[in-house]
Amino acid sequence: MSAMGAHLRPAALLIDVDGVLTQAGVAVPGAPAALRALREREIPFLLVTNTSQRSRDALARQLTALGLAVEAGRIITPAVAAARYLAAHGYRAYLATRASTRDDFLTAGVVLEEEHPDAVVLGDLGDELTYDRLNRILRHLLAGAELIALGRTRYWQAPDGPAIDVGALAALFEAAAGVRARVFGKPEPSIFIEAASMLGVSPSALAMIGDDAEVDVAAARRAGLGAGILVQTGKYRPGDEQRHTPAPDAVYPSFPSFIAALLGTPITDQ
Ligand SMILES: [Mg+2]
Repeated sequence: MSAMGAHLRPAALLIDVDGVLTQAGVAVPGAPAALRALREREIPFLLVTNTSQRSRDALARQLTALGLAVEAGRIITPAVAAARYLAAHGYRAYLATRASTRDDFLTAGVVLEEEHPDAVVLGDLGDELTYDRLNRILRHLLAGAELIALGRTRYWQAPDGPAIDVGALAALFEAAAGVRARVFGKPEPSIFIEAASMLGVSPSALAMIGDDAEVDVAAARRAGLGAGILVQTGKYRPGDEQRHTPAPDAVYPSFPSFIAALLGTPITDQ
């Protein structure tokens, strides 16, 4: 374990959710108290998660029910980041995503357009993906719509085995339409840059805390963030700190132990 250098005083924190704040469906011990301590010290933070199955409102309710009280406005998902991008450019969007993320786009003020969109937003469609839908997306792209993908993951582990994820679909459309997708979702830089913009700070003033040495930590440093902090919970396995470049700036046993070191105060759940 390495201690955080004295030079490292992030203005704000980006915090991964799965494996950092939660593990196996419950809060990581001390994580609720660590979030409370950040609020008390008025240290700005956002939760950065790759989930595309739920809206930020649904995520906020789920985390709050686990004792991790957080407002929806403090959560950034690939859908939230993409919605900010679309709204900033005034793009009308065709949503090829699960209905559950639709609110994220409407809340951001994105105008939806079925016939002549400026962009197609591609998510994990599951059983809603039909050949008709595939061709409809292809035709929008051939007509000049920008392809926005909510992640680059090729497949995920469904209960009955590996299942096609959004990254594989994006590759399909890149091949079919001869376009390049703009990808929101870790490890791509866009989501980190949108998070910095939401917080109103430069990326270099941010530290990212995650349990994935590649997708959270190395990716954040490559995106220009000031520091990547690896925690040894969730998907962490011994040796991860040496497997990826850039290496973590610091490694801590858990999120609460990092916050305790950052704030110089013990963190314990009541
Ligand atoms: Mg994680």
